[in-house]
Amino acid sequence: MDATPPRFTLETLTHLRRWTPRLFSFRMTRPAHFHFRPGQFARLGLDGEDGQTFWRPYSMVSTPDDPELEFLSIVVPGGAFTSRLETLRVGDTIRFNTLSFGFLTTDTFDSGTTLWMLATGTGLAPFVSLLRDPATCRQFPRLVLVHGVRHGAELAYRDELLRLVDEAPVPGGGSLRYLSAVTRESVPGALSARIPTLLASGDLQQAAGWPLDREVSRIMICGNPDMVQDTRSWLTAQGFRPHRRKEPGQFLVELGW
Ligand SMILES: Cc1cc2nc3c(=O)[nH]c(=O)nc-3n(C[C@H](O)[C@H](O)[C@H](O)COP(=O)(O)OP(=O)(O)OC[C@H]3O[C@@H](n4cnc5c(N)ncnc54)[C@H](O)[C@@H]3O)c2cc1C
Repeated sequence: MDATPPRFTLETLTHLRRWTPRLFSFRMTRPAHFHFRPGQFARLGLDGEDGQTFWRPYSMVSTPDDPELEFLSIVVPGGAFTSRLETLRVGDTIRFNTLSFGFLTTDTFDSGTTLWMLATGTGLAPFVSLLRDPATCRQFPRLVLVHGVRHGAELAYRDELLRLVDEAPVPGGGSLRYLSAVTRESVPGALSARIPTLLASGDLQQAAGWPLDREVSRIMICGNPDMVQDTRSWLTAQGFRPHRRKEPGQFLVELGW
């Protein structure tokens, strides 16, 4: 008898939460043999009319000890995957590839005491998973999460993140700063420029109350490719280097699409 668990499974949607008309979270069943580390992504599949399956990478919001899987999704008007995804209801099925991918994981770094997580839009997803995991806070006593969005309503998971900030110290013993940057409207308490601009002006470091320092700061960047590129360029100009296994550096990047 072949005991190899299936690589592709059919999972069931169990929960939907809409943040805005174009942004929602969903939970679905999880194959028992699917393993991942916080910060990683998997591939989800939906069938088109002609029998073709559209596969897309999605970062897990949930943690490895959660019996279900949770994701955060944009709706791209006319997008092959998300225009189908947004019509699904609880009880509908989603194809799942049980391999996990990605290096936006804290065990990639073997030094540093402050972890900066810089996200725009759905690039927040891997960082929620990391922050829900007490191991992240044990490894990095200081954590800074920056979420850049256009409108305040897109600050998904804000209440949960504010609760984590209030739980001082956060699970695992660290302390967390949660900063939001809203570019298209004024939101009380939020910064109001793009992440690369806030870094260059020093406003982000000032709002966090901690400097960005090559010795102790480690940085993860995830989201809009323009933000990722501009942030990477600014960091490189300041002497920070991308982290590679054989060439340790200070930052890791993941493009949001
Ligand atoms: C490593 C990785 C992880 C990802 N994780 C997530 C995730 O957790 N949640 C998520 O919603 N998407 C995520 N994506 C993007 C996702 O795979 C799809 O691109 C997205 O769901 C849209 O699919 P689509 O077929 O509808 O449109 P596509 O044809 O795939 O995309 C069309 C266009 O929509 C825009 N777009 C695509 N994705 C986004 C996005 N997330 N935010 C804003 N604009 C976007 C881009 O301009 C893109 O060219 C991830 C992508 C990568 C590479």
